[in-house]
Amino acid sequence: MQTNENYRLIQQLISKELNLPSPPAIAVHILNAVQKDDAALTTLGDIIAADPALTAKMLQVANSSLFARNGKVTSINRAMSVLGTNTIKNIALSFVIAAEFNEIDAGGFNHDLFWRHSVTAAVAAELLSKAVQLQYHDIFVTSLLQDIGMLVISMTKGEEYGAMLKEAQASNLNLLMLESKKYGFDHQQVGYALLTDWHLPESICTPILYHHHPEKAPEPDDQVAAILQLSDQMASVYTGAKPAELARDCQQNLQEKFNFTRVQALDFLDSVAVNSSKMISTFELGSEEIKPYSALLQQANAELAKLNISNEQLILEMLEAKDKAEKLNCELQDANTRLKELVYRDGLTGLYNHRYFQESLANEIARANRYQSSVSLIMFDIDFFKKVNDTHGHPAGDLVLMNIAKAVTNAVRPCDIVARYGGEEFAVILPETNAAGAKVFAARLRRCVEGIATLVEGQYIYVTVSAGATTFSPKGAISSKDALIETADRGLYLSKQNGRNQITVLEPEKTLNG
Ligand code: GH3
Ligand code: MG
Ligand code: MG
Repeated sequence: MQTNENYRLIQQLISKELNLPSPPAIAVHILNAVQKDDAALTTLGDIIAADPALTAKMLQVANSSLFARNGKVTSINRAMSVLGTNTIKNIALSFVIAAEFNEIDAGGFNHDLFWRHSVTAAVAAELLSKAVQLQYHDIFVTSLLQDIGMLVISMTKGEEYGAMLKEAQASNLNLLMLESKKYGFDHQQVGYALLTDWHLPESICTPILYHHHPEKAPEPDDQVAAILQLSDQMASVYTGAKPAELARDCQQNLQEKFNFTRVQALDFLDSVAVNSSKMISTFELGSEEIKPYSALLQQANAELAKLNISNEQLILEMLEAKDKAEKLNCELQDANTRLKELVYRDGLTGLYNHRYFQESLANEIARANRYQSSVSLIMFDIDFFKKVNDTHGHPAGDLVLMNIAKAVTNAVRPCDIVARYGGEEFAVILPETNAAGAKVFAARLRRCVEGIATLVEGQYIYVTVSAGATTFSPKGAISSKDALIETADRGLYLSKQNGRNQITVLEPEKTLNG
């Protein structure tokens, strides 16, 4: 507790540093009226009745769920006899003081939020004092005015104090400490200084002086101060930045300090919101409803569920997109393969075409070089094919070409490559095959073609081929693909020259006829 001397110095500092506003005349009248015990009832009633706007608000409050007893109250005198002079005085004071401060400009200070918070705190304190059956009739106005010191400081210090409030909120710093450090006093002391200056009773001023430290307050103000502290916290659930955190603290305080059960504590928080909404509109601080904490929680849970759903949705969509991409990739690969086939295959016979033949032969030569192996090449050409066309027609010639292609393809090993070199000339690449192997295969090929009968219009067409074969090996005399082709072709030419339907295997430097 502060010593009186200490406090006198602080009072001096406050009055030197801040412009303490004088009380509104009507507040003075109200306070004077209730001090004259006998005349209290009529005088207070007269003062309020003289102000129609105030009267209307008073009646609204008297009939609100927070204060209403049995039956509707339609006059101030009736309200005073039902609710008691003290309650009516308090509500009246609340209105006139709030109205007075609303007129004053305090640079950068959010008046609306301040008063919404204060009215909510007043409602919370009123409800709490009823719940714990506290015999104290000034709780509404005391809680409403607990932070009036902040308003007074901001009236003089303006933006500077606004920045301090923001700093305290953002970094969870103790506002009282920041105030004391900067000014030598805090908003509890300023509130106390102002209200004592206005001759409000000590029973209102003292709890306000200790509203952040109820444990330091003298009895019985400590109990009131404790209610102020918790009411401020409950109001912050609805006006502050961290409702969930504050609600947890409130719930814990209600349970530990006021013997509430968990469910009672949560219900209580809700009832603060419900009662405050009406009071806030009576104070003309907007008609926006304060959502009860349980509704806030429900809303938060719903938002969370929505978020989860959209998360799931997102994952599903992603998987679907991945599926689609994979399918597309497969289709693309198929298309690529088909395209390659188109590029590398001969349209009539389905054999590999000239281009593929050239690429493959180059690859096989490279491979033979790498593995010190050999690759053989057979080129063969249909004998007197022109005559076939001439005799049976071009389509018959096509059929013959197709039958030869089929037969040769069936005769080779899977690793061998059969290509249509051009027109009625074909080529077969035989990897890992030496000259002897090539000779054997060329002979087989010649015999194979000889046996092919192509039926055209009831007539069989037979053809023969002439072939040339040669072999590449890394240490051999043939050094390039072109030389290999040229040699095989030379063998073919020799076969034609020598009477057709035969093979010629050419080994570099050596010519073997067969
Ligand atoms: P040689 O024994 O000297 O090879 O005589 P040839 O008649 O086979 O040779 P020539 O070069 O005189 O004629 C080749 C014929 O092959 C001419 C051409 O019309 C025919 N020919 C080439 N390509 C095709 C084709 O795709 N279909 C058909 N039906 N005929 C083709
Ligand atoms: Mg405070
Ligand atoms: Mg020919």
